[in-house]
Amino acid sequence: MSESSTQGGKVSAALVRGDGIGPGVVDSAVAVLAAAGAEIDWLPVPAGEDAFRDTGSALPDRTVQTVRDTGLALKGPMTVPMSGYPSPNGGMRDIVRAYVNVRGVRHYPHRGYARYPGLDVTIVRDVTEDLTRGAQQETDGGEAGIALKVITRAASERLAHFAYEWAISHGSETVHVAHLAPAQRTTDGLFLRSALSVAERYPALRVVEEAIDPVCVHLLQDPSPYRIVLTPNVYGGILCGVVAGLAGTVGVMPGGNFGPDGAVFEAGHGSAPRYAGTDTANPVGLILSGAMLLDHVGQRDVGERVRQGVFDTIAEGVALTRDLGGAATTSEFTARCCALIEK
Ligand code: NAD
Repeated sequence: MSESSTQGGKVSAALVRGDGIGPGVVDSAVAVLAAAGAEIDWLPVPAGEDAFRDTGSALPDRTVQTVRDTGLALKGPMTVPMSGYPSPNGGMRDIVRAYVNVRGVRHYPHRGYARYPGLDVTIVRDVTEDLTRGAQQETDGGEAGIALKVITRAASERLAHFAYEWAISHGSETVHVAHLAPAQRTTDGLFLRSALSVAERYPALRVVEEAIDPVCVHLLQDPSPYRIVLTPNVYGGILCGVVAGLAGTVGVMPGGNFGPDGAVFEAGHGSAPRYAGTDTANPVGLILSGAMLLDHVGQRDVGERVRQGVFDTIAEGVALTRDLGGAATTSEFTARCCALIEK
């Protein structure tokens, strides 16, 4: 399966429940997708803390093989220990050779979220290079740190293509390219030039370049002109936090990672270990990640039913989780969302 969408029919997908709040929100997503009529054969596989305890690996071979075979996964967040084992989240993305991470937020017509009625922003960011994937070194006995920022034309052009295609397939006429080219000429300058040169092949799109600092200012003032923001890895991660704040909670941000060998879908939040087992987490991010998976495999109408169910549940306002201003549990939100979808 490639990064482009596939067409309809029942598909198999690896299912990783994750750590902390992960199992609760993943179970919620599976229930809501089933209520909407999703045709997915879920293949539950171990990963994360339990898998490490049981097998000595946070990403056991069976899990790697299942993701490789299906090219498709829905995963809960996994805790990344400061030391011990490498991030199984990054490991999952690497199996499909993901090069792009897509995360979006939108406005919901609920009283607590009326601040940004025009909010509908998707961040399309690279996940293969920049500061976090380049060489890092501690020097001077720990008194200095060096991190190498790497940006290439090939990766930037591939990412830009993906962002412009995403914009077209999701009905967006405008893409903003967020960068720091004047200050980081060799890296961000190359990223920007690459994005603009690819844009010449998309005359129907309005591609607007803007430095990252005014992008942040303008998003906070009025996000409505922004639909798709194309940006390198590090700025993209920060912008995801900014737009999650505009949405009122990180709990409503879905995400997908796409590569030539498949796609891995996961919410924009982490495992929030403090809330593990409390049944209080907002499952919307994971449910909407499931809707993105449905779009990807050609079950767009089912994905749309899932999105409508989430929209209706939040708009109705009677089963909202704590971060949405309510007092409902994850299970209560899930039950209400399923009921509205099945009505
Ligand atoms: P986090 O997103 O887990 O939690 C930050 C805060 O956001 C939480 O305390 C909680 O108040 C809120 N929050 C997060 N998800 C929520 C939800 N669904 N509903 C309601 N509130 C929610 O971020 P963190 O504390 O920095 O990270 C915790 C662990 O998760 C770390 O080990 C980190 O490495 C890992 N992590 C994993 C992923 C991933 O799986 N892709 C992403 C980010 C962090």
